[in-house]
Amino acid sequence: MDPVDVGTDQRAAPARERVPAGREPGEAGLTHRLRALIRGNGSNGGDPLADVIREHRIMHPQADVEALRRAYQIADRAHQGQLRKSGEPYITHPVAVARILAMLGMDTTALVAALLHDTVEDTSYTLEALYQDFGADIATVVDGVTKVEKVSYGDDAEAETIRKMIIAAGRDVRVLVVKLADRLHNMRTLGVRSPSSRARVAKATQDVLVPLCDRLGIQALKRELEDSVLLHLEPEAYARIEHYVQHRPQWSDYLENVTNIAKVALRRHKVEAEIRPRPRHYYSIWRDTIANGHPEPYDLPRIVIIVDGPDTDCYAALGAMHGSWRPVPGRFKDFIASPKNNLYRSLHTTVIGPDDRSVEVLIRTKLMHRNAEFGIVAAYRFGRSNHALSAEQLPWLRRVLEWERDATDPAEFLQALHSDLVGSQIHVFTPAGRKVLLPADSTPVDLAYALDTHIGDSCVAALINGRLAPLSSPLGDGDVVDVLTRHDELPDDAAMDEETSEELPAVGPSRDWLTFVKTPHARLQIGRWFSDQSDQPASQANKVRLGRAAIGLALRRRDRGLASDIPLLRLAGQLGYADLETLLVAVAEHHIAAEQIVEELIALVDHGPNVPVPARVQPLIDSERHPTP
Ligand code: MN
Repeated sequence: MDPVDVGTDQRAAPARERVPAGREPGEAGLTHRLRALIRGNGSNGGDPLADVIREHRIMHPQADVEALRRAYQIADRAHQGQLRKSGEPYITHPVAVARILAMLGMDTTALVAALLHDTVEDTSYTLEALYQDFGADIATVVDGVTKVEKVSYGDDAEAETIRKMIIAAGRDVRVLVVKLADRLHNMRTLGVRSPSSRARVAKATQDVLVPLCDRLGIQALKRELEDSVLLHLEPEAYARIEHYVQHRPQWSDYLENVTNIAKVALRRHKVEAEIRPRPRHYYSIWRDTIANGHPEPYDLPRIVIIVDGPDTDCYAALGAMHGSWRPVPGRFKDFIASPKNNLYRSLHTTVIGPDDRSVEVLIRTKLMHRNAEFGIVAAYRFGRSNHALSAEQLPWLRRVLEWERDATDPAEFLQALHSDLVGSQIHVFTPAGRKVLLPADSTPVDLAYALDTHIGDSCVAALINGRLAPLSSPLGDGDVVDVLTRHDELPDDAAMDEETSEELPAVGPSRDWLTFVKTPHARLQIGRWFSDQSDQPASQANKVRLGRAAIGLALRRRDRGLASDIPLLRLAGQLGYADLETLLVAVAEHHIAAEQIVEELIALVDHGPNVPVPARVQPLIDSERHPTP
């Protein structure tokens, strides 16, 4: 059982999930309404934005929808004459993406960016125009989801696009949420594409976007993304699961009985709580049965108990459940004490319920439930944050951005990103008691590089739980690992100490290590040690860094600096580059001098028109910006 998965599936339980009184508007109905979108929706009285605005105002009653109208007007004109593969006008796609984001409860900025998200990529509307018309935040988000140009990146284009998106997400995480909503709509409408496109898009969704969605904790989106991946990659398996779910004996009577008994027990323990049925979604059933080698799909009835009280009430509720029904050994998990790395928190247990039938029980507070369903979106949906979230709030994103700096080419970075996103993790400890989080099956070399590059470069052996072990030994959860370096005359604690280890001369890793290390960090550090030995031609990623560094240097010579990328982004547009990265590459390849860029930047920042976001609808598109159909 994957503990992260807490799926509700409306097809599996058509009438069971009702909206109880007193809940925030729109909360429980989200899955239902997301699904209603697939079936197509009702009348909108001729206003193409009516549905988007109505959904948006449920969670954001004060929202200023003027920007949405302006964005629609521009997007509609820019996409004029373009059709989707389904034959529908192209504008239906950005509107549908904005609607998904509205249902999630994202803010107006995200919705405006969604309406415009394909304009820069697919029409003659430029990033510079977008910046002038809508300002920096929206330009950043749209640029983050815009693909890099195939002409300048060739085979690397796909990996570069993801790399660019992750970097942009480091500035504003709404980039990833808009991208996920974009992909969800593309997955919903994938049926009209060719079999090979279907397979390619579904595979890419499974490899990168579903794990990203999981890291952002947005279960409400992840369930449908996963089910649509299954539908397109394993249509026969999907059909089997669908048949199983539709034809298994209904659980409603049984779960009603469970719920009634549980309610009495909770009251006896003085726990206020709401109990809901919580059937799994198709992908979750498939993964735990068919994909795991079981001949038949199989699933247990499941409930979620949402307590209205402090975290400790969850344990009281657990006591009430285990006091009523015998727990199944080995099935209890405490993700409150040890949250998942996407910060998912809940108690999980399985008990032998009435009639000797097993039933799964999830226990969490209201706040945990909101976060489990909406993850990072909860901050926008429930208004706990007025500013854009950044990499700082997401340790994994910060880590991924660090690898981005170290990766020598985009494919390597993508590999690192992927292995970080999909694997399970363990905690190991140094003899000094420092706790380090590593992917499962990591080795002492991974730990050594996680502690410090110099320790990695000079490690020779390891003591695992006090016993000497080869560097390739897989580590287990809770192992105490003492990394021995060539400088083992140093006391161990000193070798672990970062300041001391700075002085250790790097004697170098072994190429063999690449065959067993698990962490991208160790792999990249080993790779970098060897590529530092030989002079390799600069990769595209290095050129981007080189270009950025050259501009930074030229700015410093003029005693200037840049607080953000926005002026550079604008300049890239003004100079006719497709995006910022293309400009940086041009600098690295000496097609344009960093000095010249800096001249223009200074002119732009100091003397350029300070362009405010227009407050009223204006004819913002001049005739040259019209796309040629
Ligand atoms: Mn799109």
